[in-house]
Amino acid sequence: MKRSTKKSVLISLSCIVVILAVVLLFIFLQPTIQPVLTSENELDVYQEDSVDMKPIIMPETEPNRQPDEEPETTETLEEPTQPETTRIYEVDGVTYISLEGVEVLLVNKVYALPPNFGGPNEEATAALNRMFAVAAEDGISLYIVSGYRSYDTQASIYNRYVADWGQEYTDTVSARPGHSEHQTGLTFDINSLSNSFKNTDEYAWLQQHAAEYGFIMRYLEGSEWATGYSFEPWHYRYIADSQLATNIMESKLSLEEYAGLVTERPEPEIDE
Ligand SMILES: [Zn+2]
Repeated sequence: MKRSTKKSVLISLSCIVVILAVVLLFIFLQPTIQPVLTSENELDVYQEDSVDMKPIIMPETEPNRQPDEEPETTETLEEPTQPETTRIYEVDGVTYISLEGVEVLLVNKVYALPPNFGGPNEEATAALNRMFAVAAEDGISLYIVSGYRSYDTQASIYNRYVADWGQEYTDTVSARPGHSEHQTGLTFDINSLSNSFKNTDEYAWLQQHAAEYGFIMRYLEGSEWATGYSFEPWHYRYIADSQLATNIMESKLSLEEYAGLVTERPEPEIDE
């Protein structure tokens, strides 16, 4: 064998040894470079489908607490030094959030209502009628397309949609039974069930005045990621407090975003 051939065989052999060592090292280290993104906590079980809705605070159970009652305070009156965070709690299977001192019932893709909960709501209906009367004076004709719906009615609507369109699409436009705000009696679809409603004077009037009567729009354009629903310019929810309603409407955020109940909007993925 020539000297140069011997040398190149030696070089080739050392190369093979080095490559083998690198491959073995890589295989050996593999388990330690697994992604650390495991499930963050048990709240993940509330997540549905692709909608990234993660309550940031665990619901605490407060039995015997009604939403419109003042919280019982045993402590002396002290100004809070920190801004209040949204408190989320449950009473008899119904979820509420305490938002800027107002107790707001919460129903969405995450939080459901018990099947027997709800019914037409007198206070909300009265507020709606006051709003409709003032709108009429402004030459704006408003009327209810859909108000209170029972659990069973919602179940049959949802199941019919699923049969016609499949579950994935249905979930973006219709609530699963127990998850509809209409079951509370606090929610009304006004005038139309078409997106073109947003181009009407009636919609503009509602955007300007609904909060004065304690109503907010629930499913905003651009908030689909937070609510799980498509834009519904007709769907208004009574939360009673006109100041809070005004704050929410002026924020141009959904209730979930305003209350900080959802994690930050994911950055859109960019194809390179
Ligand atoms: Zn609706």
